Amino acid sequence: MKIAIYPGSFDPITNGHLDIIKRATKLFDKVIVVLAKNSSKKYRFSLEDRKEMVEDSLKDLKNVEVDICEGLTVEYAKKKGAVAMIRGLRVVSDFEYEWSLTAANQFINSDIETVFLMAHRDLTFLSSSTIDEMVRNNVDVSSLVPQVVLEKYKAK
Ligand code: ADP
Repeated sequence: MKIAIYPGSFDPITNGHLDIIKRATKLFDKVIVVLAKNSSKKYRFSLEDRKEMVEDSLKDLKNVEVDICEGLTVEYAKKKGAVAMIRGLRVVSDFEYEWSLTAANQFINSDIETVFLMAHRDLTFLSSSTIDEMVRNNVDVSSLVPQVVLEKYKAK
């Protein structure tokens, strides 16, 4: 069974993340969506809220699991028997950060392959921070995020 992990902040999850997850489930037998819990990073949503939004958005997908990781994701991948780590690439500026992350992960464990999926052509502008900025300025983002994200913003 080929397992891949898809690590990220998902703060909040967007349709861009969802598109990557759906496509990854066609390439791997199981995809574990891993929410990063980094104590030195400031998140917009609590870990519980981020997890709830991810779980709700993925409830109709069969070969997906959701989990939390506090340490190095590459070590988490090894522990879970995963062969790959999925990342999404949107614009050229993503490349620099993703490449240094990949190089560091290769240094730690070269058995875990980082697999990049290019963003859907209509979603290349989409990031969690873009969504947050739009919501704060009353832009209708209902076509860009799952319904549960809109509800969490309303409850905030
Ligand atoms: P991180 O804080 O680890 O960058 P994110 O939740 O922002 O976590 O993103 C997780 C992964 O999803 C990253 O590889 C990011 O480039 C990718 N990603 C984010 N938004 C999109 C999108 N709209 N299309 C494709 N990939 C995306």
